[in-house]
Amino acid sequence: MASNGHSRASVRTERQVPPTKASGGGNPPARPRASSAKRSSRVSVDDDNDSVRVRVAVRVRPKNTEELNSDFADCVELQPELKRLKLKKNNWSLESYKFDEVFTQSASQRRVYEAVAKPVVESVLDGYNGTVMAYGQTGTGKTYTVGQLGKNDPSERGIMVRALEGIFANTTAGSDTVTISYLQLYLESVQDLLSPEKTNIPIVEDPKTGEVSLPGSAVVQLNDLDHFLELLQAGEANRHAANTKLNTESSRSHAMLVVHVHRSFGGKKENEVSSLSDGTNDNLASHHVPHILKSKLLIVDLAGSERIDKSGIEGRMIEETKFINLSLTSLGKCINALAENNPYIPTRDSKLTRLLRDSFGGSARTSLIVTVGPSAQYYSETASTILFGQRAMKVVNTVKLKEEVDYESLCKKLEYHVDYLTSETDRQQKLREIEREQMEKKLKEQEALIVETKIFVSKYEYLEKQKNHWELEAKKLLKELNIQKNENDRLSQEIGHLEENFKQIKQQELESSTHQKILADMTNTYQKNIAELINQLESERSHCTNLEEQLSVMKKSLSDNIKSVQERIVDDLARENSKLNEIATSKIQSLEVMNRELLMEKERIVDDLTRENSKLNEITTSKIQPLEVMNRELLMEKDFLNKELESLKDKLLDEERQRRCLEGEIVKLKKFLIDGNAENGSKRSHWAENSTSSTLPFENPSKSHKSRESVSAQKDTISKIFEEVGLSNILPLLKSEELDVQIHAVKVVANLAAEDINQERIVKEGGLDALLILLEISKDATVHRITAGALANLAMNGSNQSLIVSKGGTRLLANIASKTEDPQTLRMIAGAIANLCGNEKLHVMLKKDSGIKALLQMMKSGHSEVIAQVARGFANFAKCESRGIAQGYQKGKSVLIEEGALYWMITNSSTYSASTRRHIELALCHLAQNEDNALDLIRGGGIKELIRISQDSSKEETRNLAKKALDSNSSFSSEMYTS
Ligand code: ADP
Ligand code: MG
Repeated sequence: MASNGHSRASVRTERQVPPTKASGGGNPPARPRASSAKRSSRVSVDDDNDSVRVRVAVRVRPKNTEELNSDFADCVELQPELKRLKLKKNNWSLESYKFDEVFTQSASQRRVYEAVAKPVVESVLDGYNGTVMAYGQTGTGKTYTVGQLGKNDPSERGIMVRALEGIFANTTAGSDTVTISYLQLYLESVQDLLSPEKTNIPIVEDPKTGEVSLPGSAVVQLNDLDHFLELLQAGEANRHAANTKLNTESSRSHAMLVVHVHRSFGGKKENEVSSLSDGTNDNLASHHVPHILKSKLLIVDLAGSERIDKSGIEGRMIEETKFINLSLTSLGKCINALAENNPYIPTRDSKLTRLLRDSFGGSARTSLIVTVGPSAQYYSETASTILFGQRAMKVVNTVKLKEEVDYESLCKKLEYHVDYLTSETDRQQKLREIEREQMEKKLKEQEALIVETKIFVSKYEYLEKQKNHWELEAKKLLKELNIQKNENDRLSQEIGHLEENFKQIKQQELESSTHQKILADMTNTYQKNIAELINQLESERSHCTNLEEQLSVMKKSLSDNIKSVQERIVDDLARENSKLNEIATSKIQSLEVMNRELLMEKERIVDDLTRENSKLNEITTSKIQPLEVMNRELLMEKDFLNKELESLKDKLLDEERQRRCLEGEIVKLKKFLIDGNAENGSKRSHWAENSTSSTLPFENPSKSHKSRESVSAQKDTISKIFEEVGLSNILPLLKSEELDVQIHAVKVVANLAAEDINQERIVKEGGLDALLILLEISKDATVHRITAGALANLAMNGSNQSLIVSKGGTRLLANIASKTEDPQTLRMIAGAIANLCGNEKLHVMLKKDSGIKALLQMMKSGHSEVIAQVARGFANFAKCESRGIAQGYQKGKSVLIEEGALYWMITNSSTYSASTRRHIELALCHLAQNEDNALDLIRGGGIKELIRISQDSSKEETRNLAKKALDSNSSFSSEMYTS
């Protein structure tokens, strides 16, 4: 096959069952061929696809030497462009015939093949039977046209060789088979040219299909073209050829090459079935039924059609000619009958017509080439040949596709497919098993997770309940405390009242004692009166006694003088006396009664007062005592409740923390549950964890306690929040009434402010104003701290610095600094002001808004990180000043010196951390560059410090700066000289 360069590449024509996906890879590349529709149109002149007329071409042989030397003129004239042949009987009689193709003497073998045989060969490849036949007088080139081997010159190859070439080129060695039988019909006997011992081979007709076959003939499967050439040559050698007068090589037998082409479609080879494993096998039933195209190509080199009398043959030869003519005559009759549409076709009259039954009026596609010689010498043969051809052109065949289902390969294919499906099912089963196990495992894991989550949730709920319970308890206690307090207040009030009452009572007591005093006084007065009355009485008595004495004297005198009257006077006197006595007694008696009454009254009043007093005392004591007890108890209870409240607050804080942790856990778990199988690779830190960090970018990142990764993760989170929430939505949160929200918002803004790209937007969208307002109005230390941080971040940028200062930021920062002791807040503020110090345009405002004073004040905090920022601020400030001095737009003593920072710098330039030290050294060196600062520096002991810096400073730049100052500043030189 390969030896002669012809490969039997497969062909899948348009008629082929469309290849499935699965079979796509298994097909060798196919050589494109014209579609059957196209081919049919070429084969047929005027018929539809099924009805195909026998195509007839005429070929004129070149003149041979004999003809060239003879006087005979040409009897044929060709008009190939019109496909016409003109036959000249004589000078005045000329007939014109139209053929399907007209080949001149110079027509090539290739062209003859392509025009006559190729469409038939293609049709055969498409599954139709086909016949190519050469008819003509002996010596006109039938064998040359049909059977030429062209061994030495391939261009000489005839139709047989070219047809097989075409078949090999369009079939596949594996799936298609090409077999041949080579026979000759000689004296009505079919002989096998491939195995010459087989003679008289019977012609068998299928009673059902009418198909003619020669089961006794040898059928050889072809491997390649060389194989065919060998067989053809051997067959040719066996072909009986007898010399005739006309042509030494001419044959009187009909040579017949039968080519069987079996082509399989749609079936798969065993090894191709595995390619179905891609799963697209469901269309097997509909599209993959294997079918076979069985077709037969008959190439017939007829014996010469010449008349017997001209050949001058004898004996056996005559017998031969008779038979030859019988077959040909019978063929002619059949063709005549077909051409005239006779119902009876005498195909059974000869073996040739039986063998060609399918080729004329049958189901085959047939091409006939009639060969003629040019010479008028054989006019009548030529004319009869032409007429034969013309009649044959009228024969119409009905082509039929010989297609069969290839049950054997279908069965095999189905078996393979069943095998494949079984193994595939097993494989799928296993996969599903594994999948099921994995799913079960996952399910278990998920269940465990759910259980865990539920525990968490129940714990959380329990804690929540506990929290609520304790909150309620705390509220209750608070309420009770309030009630107690109110009660206390009320009691205190009451005590106050009572005390007042008591005071009043005391007052009353005091008043009653005055009463007593008055009474006593009255008693005294009464007693005095009584005494006076007694005295009066006494004096009355003494007067009476006197009177009695006078009386007795008088009595005596009277007794002496008037004895008579004595008795009367005595009586009178006695009467008078008794009268006086009576008066005195009655007066004394009434006085005594009065006195007694007064005494009684006094006693009663005193008694009353004493009783009242003791009663009041009793009441007061009885009321004060329980109140005091109650007060003590309440105080104790209050202490106890305060303590309990404290512990409850602690507990609540603990629980709050725990709750947050659990919430975080739950969020993580929920996320995990939702994500399911999603990779756990991306661990995003969330705000709550990172928000405690006070790391802000104005510091050296290496100082940060957090790893760079976590910071970048935080930034990612922040930028995500930024993207998702939007700055315009975050900024209003700065004004939230909820402190928590405010703190979170300011944290987000502070973190955003750490990125250069965000700063501009924050300021543009009013973030700076919001931060400054927050700093001004908020009372919360955390807000102060983070806001200061945010401002410190914004203060990294030059244009923001001007805005911060112009909007009064320095004053606000200084104000917060003066009020707080929180080192973190101070650090943020110092950092912010330190950044502002780096902008010389703002120096005046900084001084005015107490920025420098704030730095000095913060320096006193003693916190190293705060001091580091202060030192940085001084360094920035001094650096700017020295630049201004150098460039000549600034004059005079440094603001830092004026503000009183110098002393601290000189005394602390070698204390604190290395970076603080470097900043102080740098500040001092820059101050020393200004002549106007020299005196203060000298006075403060700066020269010593500068000398030390010039020698010891860790930075070469600073050392050089110190040296430069010492060298260039004349005051220093003279000072050093004198000292
Ligand atoms: P036939 O088979 O019809 O008896 P051949 O095929 O044997 O005729 O041809 C007779 C001779 O003419 C041969 O020698 C052949 O080579 C030569 N011949 C026939 N046709 C042609 C042609 N078209 N061109 C060249 N030589 C030809
Ligand atoms: Mg011949």
